[in-house]
Amino acid sequence: MKITMPKQVAAIIGQLNQAGFEAFAVGGCVRDSLLGRVPGDWDITTNALPAQVKQIFRKTVDTGIAHGTVTVLLQGMACEVTTYRIDGDYEDHRHPKEVRFTGRLEEDLGRRDFTINAMAYSDRTGLVDCFLGKADLEKKIIRCVGNPACRFEEDALRILRAFRFASQLEFEIEPGTRQAAEAICGSLRMISMERITAELIKLLTGKRPELLADLHRMGVTEIFYPQLGEVRPYLLRSLAAAAPEKQARLAALFAAETEETAAAVLKTLKLDNETIRTVSVMVRHRDDPIPREKAQIRKILFLYGEALTNRIFANMRVKAEALADKDALGKLDQAEALCKEIIADGDCVSYKTLALKGRDLLSMGMASGREVGDTLAFLMDAVLQDPSLNQKDRLGAILSGRRPDKA
Ligand code: ATP
Ligand code: MG
Repeated sequence: MKITMPKQVAAIIGQLNQAGFEAFAVGGCVRDSLLGRVPGDWDITTNALPAQVKQIFRKTVDTGIAHGTVTVLLQGMACEVTTYRIDGDYEDHRHPKEVRFTGRLEEDLGRRDFTINAMAYSDRTGLVDCFLGKADLEKKIIRCVGNPACRFEEDALRILRAFRFASQLEFEIEPGTRQAAEAICGSLRMISMERITAELIKLLTGKRPELLADLHRMGVTEIFYPQLGEVRPYLLRSLAAAAPEKQARLAALFAAETEETAAAVLKTLKLDNETIRTVSVMVRHRDDPIPREKAQIRKILFLYGEALTNRIFANMRVKAEALADKDALGKLDQAEALCKEIIADGDCVSYKTLALKGRDLLSMGMASGREVGDTLAFLMDAVLQDPSLNQKDRLGAILSGRRPDKA
């Protein structure tokens, strides 16, 4: 059994070996490689202590020295190298009170959350799979390493992680693991919102976003979305219809909500302002009539720009699909085609390309900034209605009250 590693990962493992240490690729990257998925990042586990790792490599960053993690930078790649460790007793369901380094790989694998995440690999040794993760991968099962109740008691975030891996990988949660998750999920309240949000987004953007219904039944959604009364089939259809990425799935999550509620929940989730604004705008316009005129679409492009306009249409499409509204879907096809034409024709939809600028108006004798601003807005409006007006002389003609010459 051979896993193909990036050359930098092989080099880091090789150099650690040469210095007399054990080293393995571990966790998500091994899991993803066995599944034929491209790993997002490659983590390395080793019996070398952080100080020893730092001696071996020229460029390192102290990412989490206290937890044994040093980031090694090699040929344009960053790899987290972590010393084999055992987590000590946990306090308050989230932080181990202490971490202890160990010389034994099996102990390091034993602290990991799920069997599929508890495998290590090196070209020298091959796959190290003390907890039968490979068998669970083949059975498509998420199963805790060890006693699930204990593991969830230690760190309640693992409950949410079980559901997010089930969604990302299209796996089932093993019954014992699921039972323990349901019994203990109240402790998720102790987990920081940032960590909850990171897992929730991965769940929502995965292949089984409908697992949200399980979290709701368990009371977990109460923590970040207490306004959610019931997970209706319409909500699940909306999630399924939305593209599997963050903004689209979040907007779908709020398929039956107002913009205000959506924004409040996004804030509770401590999402960044860019995401909050994007999703809010998508929700704001979800129930608007689908525009049929180019002028209306230019106006949307003027207000939000091309990327956000496309997102608004995409979210309207999610609604139409969730309702199986053929009429709306047809109208959206047309609106999107018109939008493409507007872009391809280079119609002016921004002050940046308006043929008259503020300084032109000033040189025409306008005195106050207010007058200039109002006039530009007036001209912009005219150009959004009729882009052929976007020429200096035609706009000038409008201003001097003459009918613009025919183009
Ligand atoms: P992804 O591809 O989404 O990054 P991952 O499996 O790499 O998935 P990470 O959160 O990056 O997940 O964690 C890396 C590894 O660390 C996991 O595979 C697992 O072995 C271990 N791990 C992470 N979080 C926990 C946790 N809360 N409890 C126990 N082990 C964990
Ligand atoms: Mg990872």
